[in-house]
Amino acid sequence: MSKRDYYEVLGVDKGADQKEIKKAYRRLAQKYHPDRNPDDNTSAEKFREVSEAYEVLADGEKRAAYDQFGHAGVDGQGGGFGGGGGFGGGGAGDFSDIFGDVFGDIFGGGGGGRRRGPNAPARGSDLRYNLELDLESAVAGTTVDIRVPRHINCDRCDGDGAEPGSSKETCPTCHGHGQVRMQQGFFAVQQTCPTCHGSGQHIKVPCHKCNGEGRVRETRTLSVKIPAGVDTGDRIRLNGEGEAGINGGPPGDLYVQASIKPHHIFQRDGKHLQCDVPINFVDAALGGELEVPTLDGRVKLKIPPETQTGKLFRMRGKGVKPVRGGTPGDLLCKVVLETPVNLNDEQKDLLRQLQESFDGSNSHSHSPKKTGFFDSVKKFFEDMKP
Ligand SMILES: [Zn+2]
Ligand SMILES: [Zn+2]
Repeated sequence: MSKRDYYEVLGVDKGADQKEIKKAYRRLAQKYHPDRNPDDNTSAEKFREVSEAYEVLADGEKRAAYDQFGHAGVDGQGGGFGGGGGFGGGGAGDFSDIFGDVFGDIFGGGGGGRRRGPNAPARGSDLRYNLELDLESAVAGTTVDIRVPRHINCDRCDGDGAEPGSSKETCPTCHGHGQVRMQQGFFAVQQTCPTCHGSGQHIKVPCHKCNGEGRVRETRTLSVKIPAGVDTGDRIRLNGEGEAGINGGPPGDLYVQASIKPHHIFQRDGKHLQCDVPINFVDAALGGELEVPTLDGRVKLKIPPETQTGKLFRMRGKGVKPVRGGTPGDLLCKVVLETPVNLNDEQKDLLRQLQESFDGSNSHSHSPKKTGFFDSVKKFFEDMKP
């Protein structure tokens, strides 16, 4: 199956900035989120496609490669971010530097860090962990334990691959170069040595624990601090918690990528929240006080008389405090007028009386929208007359 263009997948143009890309991704990720579309394969596939496109376009280096070479420029890197590169140090050396916008800068310095020689240390691959959070935990911040399967240095041979007490010898095929030259007609072709697979060394007695690989698989439980305000697409880097390095190289990093589950009351749009508040038509007509939900509990909201359905009330500061700082967002309460149900005879009678009183007076003045609507309809048909 041929892949769709990543910009097309996210519905942004080629010149889109990171903000636009992030926004498009959030919208689509929420739309196709598996929680919202259970047992729907098409949505699951779209979700995967959208996530893949975002992973590339949100990353300065990958995006540049994609712009230049298309899918061929970024494919084959698997789930992680590919090894190589190597950006040692990388700041505070602790959990929870929130990622995202600075990603491209950090990768930028890496250059084409290919392994120079067969025995040169190579940095371990980075790992990505997709973490689903409910809205409350994402807004308040939390600590979660995650189980991460990964390669770590073998403790029996200390990453060497040779059984302790035994020694390594120089590979007899390539004499330690890791590469062999093959003559094919006029051309000499350089190839990875088939005997030592490029390491240049031959292990006489492989380590019993790791079978000579120097690394073993292990599942570790890590405690990850999630800062308050994270949103879908945000990444938290855990320095050195990726795959073990090769030949004594430094380990890669682990990126915990947050995705926020849909909430049954609130919809999130960046730092703002929105919710629907049902209201009966008597309160809407006469005005009143409603109890509306916020993330820190119920709050009273005053509704003025003659409130129409769909009206938005902004509650300042009742949204989300952004993870990168700044003022908290707002909560937008959308009033939704409800038609009364299960009326008894007396109530129906009262409504009929109300209706009659409308008919008696100038009925137009009680229904501003309806009046405007029927005036437009009248004008529409009049204009059609020759
Ligand atoms: Zn070992
Ligand atoms: Zn060899």
